[in-house]
Amino acid sequence: MPQNDVMHKITVIPGDGIGPEITAQVLRVLKHVNAPFSYEEAAAGEIALNTMGSLLPESTLESIARNKLAIKGPTTTPVGGGHKSINVSLRQKFDLYANVRPVRTLPNVPCVGQDVNLTIVRENTEDLYAGIERMVDDHTAESIKRITYKGSERIARYGYELAQKTQRKKVAIVHKANIMKMSDGLFLKTSLQVGQEFPQIETRDVIVDNACMQLVTKPQQFEVIVTQNLYGDILSDLCAGLVGGLGVVPGANIGRDIAVFEAVHGSAPDIAGQNKANPTALLQSAVMMLEHVGELKLAQDIMAALIKTLGDANARTADLGGHGNTVTFTDAIIQNL
Ligand code: NAD
Repeated sequence: MPQNDVMHKITVIPGDGIGPEITAQVLRVLKHVNAPFSYEEAAAGEIALNTMGSLLPESTLESIARNKLAIKGPTTTPVGGGHKSINVSLRQKFDLYANVRPVRTLPNVPCVGQDVNLTIVRENTEDLYAGIERMVDDHTAESIKRITYKGSERIARYGYELAQKTQRKKVAIVHKANIMKMSDGLFLKTSLQVGQEFPQIETRDVIVDNACMQLVTKPQQFEVIVTQNLYGDILSDLCAGLVGGLGVVPGANIGRDIAVFEAVHGSAPDIAGQNKANPTALLQSAVMMLEHVGELKLAQDIMAALIKTLGDANARTADLGGHGNTVTFTDAIIQNL
């Protein structure tokens, strides 16, 4: 049963590819536990482009602005030509500056190596993702990397406060300030300054290429990673690979008063429509949303059922070496609740 009496209306964006399949299963679980949500469906992605003429219709933006909470399936961004990524647009439009991606080894999930339990806190609005690009001429293109004091300060503060709140003892600031002395230099200097306000937390800075190697060889030395937009995106997939793949890593895009929860993975066109997709990442994103609204007991109950189900090779989906599919895996989670 919900802990609080408060009901939240949430915007549900099924998205493209495997999005609608996994979103439907996540909603089944939320409804089964009587999560204190009502649901307003909104379109984004190729499906919205085809039916409403826009990748990110105004009605979807209005729904998110009104409800302040959204769960989003992955969306396909057509490559090239005039289509700005929906995710980048959403993050910039609502200033969802913190992309929080917890990566941890789940019991019973086959993975490549050692135990991982870290959270990537990725700056979500600046860097090469700011969209400042131009063709200089037919043979030369430029993308500007934009880093600000404000953007760096608030993401570092978010990372340290998260570390404090979750009883973590270490923050690693990941950068490439040895080469991009001004942009990454500003990010590093600002983050280190914020770190001085948290003397109980051990701070270290790690150059991004070294961070990749360290994450593969000794991931347990990392607890919270604070990093820039592009590095955070790449490191997330690297870390996903360490814990069983993209099917299991959730995420949240957090702003001052709006939060959008979504898996790290994309729309997986190679398995779309085949009932093969693993709903774990989106389900854990929903768990993060429950935690965000203070429904800790429901969050724990779903995690316990999920972990139990992952232990059953007949229930697990094929990406985790199991014999289950999207629907039967969810059936098993619901049975375990
Ligand atoms: P992807 O994450 O969609 O797929 C990479 C690989 O992981 C594929 O083999 C896929 O089958 C597998 N995979 C991903 N999620 C899975 C799941 N839940 N269960 C089982 N296997 C899973 O990455 P991609 O192929 O590079 O991108 C496809 C599209 O998704 C692109 O248009 C890209 O722009 C978009 N994308 C969207 C988001 C988002 O909306 N948040 C994020 C990343 C990529």
